[in-house]
Amino acid sequence: MFNRSLNHKFKYTLKGKTYTPTAQEFRLIYDSKVDSTYWNTKQGAYKKYKNELKKAHYFGQKMRCAYCRKRLRADGYWEDLDHIVAQSKKGNWIYYPKNLIVTCLPCNRLKNADPTLSNQNAKRFPLHSLGFRIFNPHFDNWEDHFVIEKGIFLKGIPQTKGPDTYNFCNLHRMDIIIDYADEQRIWNVKTMRRLTHRLRTVTKGSNEEKSINEAIIHMIRRKKQN
Ligand SMILES: [Zn+2]
Repeated sequence: MFNRSLNHKFKYTLKGKTYTPTAQEFRLIYDSKVDSTYWNTKQGAYKKYKNELKKAHYFGQKMRCAYCRKRLRADGYWEDLDHIVAQSKKGNWIYYPKNLIVTCLPCNRLKNADPTLSNQNAKRFPLHSLGFRIFNPHFDNWEDHFVIEKGIFLKGIPQTKGPDTYNFCNLHRMDIIIDYADEQRIWNVKTMRRLTHRLRTVTKGSNEEKSINEAIIHMIRRKKQN
């Protein structure tokens, strides 16, 4: 039915692929006056930089969300740039290339201002993996932190950054489950069977249970439309 599993397809890292600013951009992004208000008020000066960086990271991420790996739109221009360390926490880091990734809208919105640094009081932007509580593709490989179970269920690998990232972005989400099933063209009946089976194994009252129930309802409603 499909010859490459999502686990294989989703592998990626931005190590060595992070956008390299020009000398002129360098001065702009490391300007000591930069703060979180710049993101919306100084759009003009930073527009070209943001577009170039977004393009580089979008293709480096293989055109998928940095976290959940859902397919992004062909025109990555409309997708969200996510700050790994939130603007509200470290306003002067908002343009740092290794703080920026392209994500789907739900992953960006849900992560919001969660504490993603290992040391919340860090004065300098960490330039190594352990400086971050969550997955940062500029330093980490996706496949070391996440795994897809039964073809459609995304999980964080225990003892890695996966579980914290999973909680911050609600990676149990039903939109992810449905997107994975659709991408692989898994037969609806088979998807339903996997969902109902999974329901029996998850913790009662958990967010994961809720998402699986939502996915089941989605499948039923969709069937009625066809
Ligand atoms: Zn996402």
